[in-house]
Amino acid sequence: MSHSGLLLRETPKGLFLEMGTKKIALDPTRKVSADYIFISHAHSDHLPKSVGDATVIASEETVSLARQRGLRIERHQDSAPGIQLVDTGHILGSRGLLADGVFYYTGDLGGRSRGFMKAPRRVRCGTLLIESTYGRPQYRFPPLATVLRTANELISSAIEAGRPAFIEGYPLGKSQVLTYLFQSWSPLHVFGTVKTYNDIYRDFGVDLPSPSRHIKTADELRREKGKGSLIIAPSTSVKGEVRSAVSDINAMVLRFTGWALLRSAGFHDTSMLPISDHADYFELIKFVEQCRPDEVITTHGYASDFAISLKRLGYSARALGQRQFRITDYLR
Ligand SMILES: [Zn+2]
Repeated sequence: MSHSGLLLRETPKGLFLEMGTKKIALDPTRKVSADYIFISHAHSDHLPKSVGDATVIASEETVSLARQRGLRIERHQDSAPGIQLVDTGHILGSRGLLADGVFYYTGDLGGRSRGFMKAPRRVRCGTLLIESTYGRPQYRFPPLATVLRTANELISSAIEAGRPAFIEGYPLGKSQVLTYLFQSWSPLHVFGTVKTYNDIYRDFGVDLPSPSRHIKTADELRREKGKGSLIIAPSTSVKGEVRSAVSDINAMVLRFTGWALLRSAGFHDTSMLPISDHADYFELIKFVEQCRPDEVITTHGYASDFAISLKRLGYSARALGQRQFRITDYLR
């Protein structure tokens, strides 16, 4: 493949893609100077504190969620000349960036359909820059139906015993999938910021049930003692007072994360079950196969291990940063 005129720069300030005279910052987390800032999705590890006067390239959903998280965005668009956004199935509005039909940056990538979320779209590309959070073969997530069967049995036995079931997931993305997957339980309450994000998902047409109650404080949570309710809560809020309230009401606690497969995972009185908004190792490999790239660059999580696995499969692959801060790296 001939040079396409694209240039990927790996710098201490982050990743930049240069297309002709335009400079695009890819998911910068600090203040940068660029014509465009691409935001793949609204998780905080992909959001800058400020976008300055750059034009944001992101989906409508991501702009809305990012604003909710306090980012001021004045100008935004969901495409640009030579740029196409591709659904990555990670959270509402998550997109990868395809430049000139040659270079594809995934941002975070889902692996399979779950509730209203669809599997990521595959695109044929020359250079694939792919996330590799779960890029080791020990991460093979069981089928969703298997995990749900286990979860529903645990919930059922708790509720029959008059104990609340306390369902923990990451507040943005996971909690909405959990609200959808466990909507047949009643009463179904949501805790803290889960309500805020559920409302935004609903505004964009996702069919999430309205909660019976929005619980806002540890004291309100204590009132659930002896009630067989199901409460969807943000995992990030379960500490201090909230953690003691969960313990005081003798709730059965389920936490949903791909890290449930880690041997050391799990807390006292908490069951961890693997439902993830990321692809597992085998889904990552399948994704690469379907994109049929000439070159793969891996980033996040087990980036080095995943690059080694890909090399064994015959791909030209390296982890991002392995040639640290190289000034220029022409894409083929
Ligand atoms: Zn993410």
